[in-house]
Amino acid sequence: MHIQPNVHFDDTEVAFSYKSDKELKKANFIFSIVNHPAISSVATGLAKAGLALHLPVKGLIKATVFEHFCGGETIDQSERTIQTLSRFHVGTILDFSAEGAHTEEGFDRTTEEILKTLDKAKGNPSIPFTVFKSTGLVNIDLLTKVQSKESLSSEEHEAFQHFHDRVERICKKAHEYNVPVMVDAEDSWIQNPIDELTYEMMKKYNQQRAIVFNTYQMYRRDMLDNLRNAYHTATMHNYFLGVKMVRGAYMEKEAESAEKMGYPNPIHPSKEATDDSFNKGLAFCVDNKQRVSLMCGSHNEYSNQYLTVLMGKHSMKPNDQRVWFAQLLGMSDNSSFNLAKAGYNVAKYVPYGPVELVMPYLIRRASENTSVAGQSSRELTMIRKELARRKNSKS
Ligand SMILES: Cc1cc2nc3c(=O)[nH]c(=O)nc-3n(C[C@H](O)[C@H](O)[C@H](O)COP(=O)(O)OP(=O)(O)OC[C@H]3O[C@@H](n4cnc5c(N)ncnc54)[C@H](O)[C@@H]3O)c2cc1C
Repeated sequence: MHIQPNVHFDDTEVAFSYKSDKELKKANFIFSIVNHPAISSVATGLAKAGLALHLPVKGLIKATVFEHFCGGETIDQSERTIQTLSRFHVGTILDFSAEGAHTEEGFDRTTEEILKTLDKAKGNPSIPFTVFKSTGLVNIDLLTKVQSKESLSSEEHEAFQHFHDRVERICKKAHEYNVPVMVDAEDSWIQNPIDELTYEMMKKYNQQRAIVFNTYQMYRRDMLDNLRNAYHTATMHNYFLGVKMVRGAYMEKEAESAEKMGYPNPIHPSKEATDDSFNKGLAFCVDNKQRVSLMCGSHNEYSNQYLTVLMGKHSMKPNDQRVWFAQLLGMSDNSSFNLAKAGYNVAKYVPYGPVELVMPYLIRRASENTSVAGQSSRELTMIRKELARRKNSKS
């Protein structure tokens, strides 16, 4: 469907005003590397091996991709990014992205860290949302077992109860602090117990407003129905529904698992079908805005534009607190900063954590930014356009 744009996403001066010339040149270098699948895969392989062998590569990673896509290794180190974004009316969502906790102690440490992001966000307009990933709080194999309804040992029952308690602590504190918390969506074979627990928390903590948000991966064929069902359940139990809508990040893994295990691939058969489902999901949320709060987590310009049009049709002001836009730090600045300049509510996921533990996150960003995935050429075009504009304006 053709739509009349409300916001111009191609204003690169606005998009990159927060970056110095030096930072912009570095961004150009990074996206030029990841644009080549072969170079990107050699570079990520070398980085992984270098860290594993304790070679002095950390400084190089930190000064390049880490600095581009992450706030820092700690919340304190992320302060500069929080302040910079805030100057341009873009909020921060501190995302503790260290992956690899496998023990109960590790899951407890991650919980404490997420609670610290809530402390940091309390009463802080620069940090309008918080977020966590369930697999940082519980063993993936246990979630798989729970979803497939396998019988659990008493130890496993106890571990699952600990997961429940960790999530409860986070959501309770989010409610006390009046800071919304989003639960990331993950692989389809572990998602049901995450959903169930998230809805239990919504029922408890979303009585006055949406504090707990679930994530809807619209690349899944069942997701539009899941969203509608979630809305009906929220209506039935009279609570607010918090929706973070994304397309979904694990398409290849989903296809591989479906083939290996012999069940139909749960992902839509084409990009167009995913896009259609995503845009219908946006319309459903705006149609039901009395009960639904929406976080549109996307770099897709059409979807972001479409959401501004839907808001206009429903006479919603750009800064209506029920609708937010979010992108990842270091990506789609043209959407984030142009939306924010036009008065819409925008926030960036700002990942942080020790370099070695954030590597899986960085590798995912590198692979989704290869020219195969198509995102990096979009980023590169914008960055080069702005570099040229700055050069011309100086000459
Ligand atoms: C703020 C934020 C939070 C996020 N949180 C999560 C999360 O909790 N869980 C999660 O899984 N992801 C999450 N993501 C990642 C997200 O799911 C997407 O992978 C990423 O944003 C790219 O999609 P897009 O909407 O930005 O745009 P686009 O670049 O337009 O879309 C790319 C996406 O389309 C889908 N797609 C591509 N090709 C096909 C095909 N052939 N058939 C079917 N579908 C296809 C895939 O989902 C792919 O990622 C988040 C992203 C953002 C910006």
